[in-house]
Amino acid sequence: MPASSSRSPSAAPLAPNAVIGIVGGGQLGRMSAVAAAKLGFRAHILTQDPHGPAAQVAHQVTLGAYDDHKALDAFARAVDVITFEFENISADALDCLAQHCPVRPSGAILRTSQDRLAEKTFLSDADIPLAPWMAVTDHASLHAAAETLGFPFILKTTRNGYDGKGQARVYEAPQLEAAFASLAPHPLVAEGMVDFACEISVMVVRGTDGTTRCFAPGLNYHRDGILDLTLAPAPVQEETAQRAQALATAIAEKLDLIGILGVEMFIDRTGTLLVNEIAPRPHNSGHWTMDACPADQFDMHIRAVAGLPLPPALRHSDAAMKNLVGPDDMALWPDILATPGHIPHLYGKAEARAGRKMGHVNILFPYGSLPGALGVQDALGPLADKPETEDNDQ
Ligand code: AMP
Repeated sequence: MPASSSRSPSAAPLAPNAVIGIVGGGQLGRMSAVAAAKLGFRAHILTQDPHGPAAQVAHQVTLGAYDDHKALDAFARAVDVITFEFENISADALDCLAQHCPVRPSGAILRTSQDRLAEKTFLSDADIPLAPWMAVTDHASLHAAAETLGFPFILKTTRNGYDGKGQARVYEAPQLEAAFASLAPHPLVAEGMVDFACEISVMVVRGTDGTTRCFAPGLNYHRDGILDLTLAPAPVQEETAQRAQALATAIAEKLDLIGILGVEMFIDRTGTLLVNEIAPRPHNSGHWTMDACPADQFDMHIRAVAGLPLPPALRHSDAAMKNLVGPDDMALWPDILATPGHIPHLYGKAEARAGRKMGHVNILFPYGSLPGALGVQDALGPLADKPETEDNDQ
């Protein structure tokens, strides 16, 4: 139980030794818990996995399903403030938690971000530039979307889509019905295909006093639908970087955010920024901040959630962040440890399954000296992209 002296009115900063409740037991919870500990707080995790990444480093763990109201109740009574590290908790469960203590970011924000339709509606209403989109509820709206957006376009589920899952690309009319049937539950969102030059993301954090801070945008590369590499700062024009930060800040303010938010964006061939999605939690594409910034995304998030002042989102170095995914990357672990300049982070997952994020490596460059693609590959050493292998059957 939290010391009663550490329980504060919702807007007052939490005192040292206060308890920060984190819903979710994965790596984002783990790194948030470590950040909380650095600031003298105790992390209490709600998870179903007693041996998961976050539970391993936490002060306390409540084991329970995210819809187990008895566990939610016990968890909420034992903490001073609640945040979450993933978005798949029900609105009902959040309401249950919010009866006992502040939930930051709020349940209303989570409701918006966990439903792609709600998210797009919110962003459109806030005049945030998006790829053209339409709700697809039935066969008539499916065909209307194809007509309006043209081919190719993308169909996406409204919930539980991550790392490229829950999507189908539709290139021609005969594929329409099969794509519609392959995705569930309905309704779906149809999105015009963006011919993007690159994908960037901005981490923005907003405190209880309304202060906002934005890290430099990162340039993101994906592999098999999973984030592979982030370069920071994204090598884009200064004016584009500033516009991206202004968009992220506008979204944070419009949401009345407390905590951190990841904003993923496309830059199209004309230099136009289009927001793809938002995530009100620390984000994989912000992991570079852990070694390149005096206060990283997790420190900032915990500070915001705890009502502490937010320092400027400065970076002292440029950085490359490479994800370690599945058994192939983990086989390189001894090489990574032996490579000068590689700063490794492992998440403590027991088993390296294909497609599973196991950790990441940060590599720093002097401020303003992020190299080009070849230089980055060189610095990645054992983690550099392998040349395509030839098909010997041909
Ligand atoms: P999402 O699940 O929406 O983040 O999408 C996963 C990935 O699919 C993105 O990072 C993009 O690479 C790609 N993608 C998503 N939406 C679009 C779009 N409208 N046009 C082109 N590519 C997209």
